[in-house]
Amino acid sequence: MKEKVIIVRYCEIHLKGKNRGYFEQVFMNNLEKALTGIRHEIRRPSGRYVVENFDAERADEICERIRKVFGVHTLSVGVKVEADLDAIFAQILEISPDEGTFKIETNRADKHFPLDSMEINRELGGRLLGKKPQLQVDVKTPQTVLHVDIRENGTALVFEGIVKGAGGMPVGTAGKGMLLLSGGIDSPVAGYMIAKRGMRLEGLHFHSYPYTNMQAREKVEELARILSGYTGGMTLHIVSVTHIQEEIHKKCPEEMMITLLRRFMMRIAERLSKETGAQCIVTGESLGQVASQTIEGMTSSNDVVKDMPVLRPLIGFDKTEIIEKARMIGTYETSVLPYEDCCTVFLPKHPLIKPDLHKVRKAEAVLDVEGLIEEAFASAETAVF
Ligand code: ATP
Ligand code: MG
Repeated sequence: MKEKVIIVRYCEIHLKGKNRGYFEQVFMNNLEKALTGIRHEIRRPSGRYVVENFDAERADEICERIRKVFGVHTLSVGVKVEADLDAIFAQILEISPDEGTFKIETNRADKHFPLDSMEINRELGGRLLGKKPQLQVDVKTPQTVLHVDIRENGTALVFEGIVKGAGGMPVGTAGKGMLLLSGGIDSPVAGYMIAKRGMRLEGLHFHSYPYTNMQAREKVEELARILSGYTGGMTLHIVSVTHIQEEIHKKCPEEMMITLLRRFMMRIAERLSKETGAQCIVTGESLGQVASQTIEGMTSSNDVVKDMPVLRPLIGFDKTEIIEKARMIGTYETSVLPYEDCCTVFLPKHPLIKPDLHKVRKAEAVLDVEGLIEEAFASAETAVF
């Protein structure tokens, strides 16, 4: 018997006391979802998850998918062998380097195994030194750690190397949010960060077709597809704000275009959240990044959201930090493709930097707010990723 396996360790779940069973179940479901379409089995020996019974050639693909699942602390690719010293040693011999420093670290779940952990380390280490005399033992700062995990069912896992996972909490354990997803760099990163804390997401994108083009939309769909690799799927709602912008343009002060458009976006987002069970709105704003992202601008947007918080996970991030994250999660290349956002349509020469709430409300009063929102809802389309 000799079979490739992947060992998955999880993050903060152990902190959750009585809810632990629930968190573990959601985590397990998310792992299963991530591996949809690949033959495998996931077992749960104490304190970790082991993926087994897959085609060895697909190990990399499985690791790539599992690494993206929030809640995964680390993972290792290993081999399952009989819990027998000769079989274990044969594997250690195969994966160990020929020179440098090493140590063997054994974890013995099966307390019936004739040797204890220290004795196993010593026995295997001694044999290895016999075969590879260029190696040296270093228990404090070894270059290579060779792990042996003796399990209760008569098998042992042998592995070297630990890969970092996405961290965070399992998606689905912290409610659901409505992510305002533009085609820019920031909002996908905002979604990633909130999903990382365990929140499921729906996406909402506004376009001003025909002022904005179809490529803008395809780009947002691609971003939603990339994000769905982390969120275990995502529904994207696509809503036209063309007529809203035309009305603002016709009837309100030019410099208020973005301020007023934002208020419409927020109203639509809150209503759609209520319809879909989302409990908050998530945006990619960062304080002071552009003219509209001032505290006064956010006060004006928040003013129209009545029953839920607006989460802005990037509020304290510099653009360079956001770009770094976008590269890491794989959205950057798509985000920087040229496109027109609806916010660039009828863009005022001098947008309001510090909108005054009373003036904003007054300017808006000439519009048929409810009617325009109804109309925007009638244009809504959805795509599932
Ligand atoms: P991003 O990179 O996310 O586009 P940005 O720096 O371009 O952000 P703004 O254009 O001011 O900033 O948008 C601020 C936030 O408003 C975005 O992060 C996003 O959450 C939301 N938003 C802007 N435009 C749209 C849109 N067309 N559809 C949905 N949400 C949008
Ligand atoms: Mg933008």
